[in-house]
This record gives sequence, structure tokens and C-alpha cells, in this order.
Amino acid sequence: MEKLEQLYEGKAKKVFRTDDDQLYIVSYKDDATALNGLKKGSIENKGIVNNLLTNYLMQQLEEKGVPTHFVRQLSDRETLVKKVTIVPLEVIVRNIAAGSLSKRLGIAEGTQLAGPVLEFCYKNDELGDPMVNDYHIYAMNICSAEELRQISSMAFKVNDFLKEYFSGLGITLVDFKIEFGKTDDGKIILADEISPDTCRLWDSKTGEHLDKDRFRRDLPDTAGGYREVIKRALGKEI
Ligand code: ADP
Ligand code: UDP
Repeated sequence: MEKLEQLYEGKAKKVFRTDDDQLYIVSYKDDATALNGLKKGSIENKGIVNNLLTNYLMQQLEEKGVPTHFVRQLSDRETLVKKVTIVPLEVIVRNIAAGSLSKRLGIAEGTQLAGPVLEFCYKNDELGDPMVNDYHIYAMNICSAEELRQISSMAFKVNDFLKEYFSGLGITLVDFKIEFGKTDDGKIILADEISPDTCRLWDSKTGEHLDKDRFRRDLPDTAGGYREVIKRALGKEI
């Protein structure tokens, strides 16, 4: 497998073309941004934690019947993935009120929700990823009704799996964001990452934030939360 030119550099990852036109290499960086890019910094070894955890979770999800872009881990920071056209939606699932939902609806952070909440945001940095509903999604031709049905069903499956998995590690899954993509043969699969950058993870006993909120909220030892998650998940000291 030959790594060819860089196609894209995002806020947290770089994407490279390979000599197989159906495969990309993603490379995870330590760079962190928040507040729509206004706050910039770096979290030591975050790229390693996010790569290893994403790959582990995607392999588990595959076994549970959720198709993903994961192909093979190449190194601590690099993974071979299936090339997709990303469906420009941030698919968010929430179990407990936090962040923008708490602000928008005036529900105190930490309040258990009566059932999981599924939200969609249109992935567009200039617009600040505005929330959209299914009518906006069809009106903008973002995806078809059948594709949105598949995306929603997979998102709840991912939530069921992650909730139980993290609970076993003494971690409460508050909410998370995932992305889906379409392969050249038209299949919708889970892409991007599942990591402390994209999930709110609270220590079940102490309520301590083990995720990117530590960075967003200027809490001490940002890297410590990531280290703790990977230690509990994979037994790895990073
Ligand atoms: P952002 O673009 O928000 O700054 P990243 O730094 O994580 O985010 O960049 C990674 C980019 O690669 C994202 O835009 C993501 O949607 C995209 N991506 C993730 N997985 C794949 C894939 N399998 N094929 C193509 N693009 C992908
Ligand atoms: N999230 C993300 N990327 C984004 C926005 C949100 O990964 O661009 C994740 C975030 O980490 C949290 C969930 O989606 O787990 C819900 O985030 P929320 O809408 O509360 O936004 P925030 O308060 O993070 O701005």
C-alpha cells in the first residue's frame, strides 16, 4: 500500500490518497480546536488515543452489523480506510443533557433524558454547523429518505453499543457525534472517528470529564482525560 499525496488537512486529521483508488489513509494529529475554530491548541498524544480507540470501536461495531470505513491500522497515528463521499451531516445522539442542548432548551447539564435524542447538523464551518431536520435534508438534497432512515437506525445502534461498552469501563456516555459516508457503489457506512474529541465521556463515579470539554472549558490536564480513556479501554499507558 503506497501513501500518495495529501488530499485534505482538517482540524484533527489529514487525509491521503493511496495507490488504490478506493482507499484513503487518515492521519490523526494532536491539534485541537473549539468554539468553531476560535480556540486553538494541542493535546499531547491525542492523535494516538483517537486513532486506537476509533479503530477498536469500529471493529466492534462491524461485528454488531454496523458497516464502517475501517480497513487496517497502519501505525499509532495512521489508518487505512475505505474512501467515501461524506454525507455532510453531523449526526448527534444524546442520552444526558449537556453542551448546546442544555443552552438551547434550558435543561441543566447532567439531566438524564427520557429517551435518546437524535439531531442533525449541516456540516459547514462557515455557517457554524447549523441544526437541520429531515425536511431541510431532503430540500438540500443532502441524502435520500432511505439513506436518512439507514443513518438514523445505525446511529441508535452505535449509541446502544457505546453506552454499554463505556458503562463497563466506568464511563457514562453523555452524547456523541458521528459521520457517515457513501462508497462508490452507493453503500452508506460509518466514517470519520469515535473518540474523546467527538463523545462526551464522564467518569461514572466522580463525574469528571474525560473528553474534549476539558480543553473547551480550560480545565487542567487536558491530555489526562484522553490517557485515562485509552487506559481503561485498551489497557494502554500512553
Ligand atoms: P474537519 O474537516 O471537521 O476539520 P478532521 O480534521 O477530522 O475534521 O478531518 C477529517 C476529514 O475527513 C473530515 O472532513 C471527515 O469528514 C473526512 N473523512 C473521514 N473519513 C473519511 C473517509 N473514509 N473518506 C473520506 N473522507 C473522510
Ligand atoms: N461534537 C463534535 N463536533 C462538533 C460538534 C459537536 O464532535 O463539531 C460532539 C461533541 O463532542 C458532543 C456532541 O457532539 O459530544 C454534542 O455537542 P454539542 O451540540 O453539545 O456542541 P458543543 O457544546 O460541543 O459545541
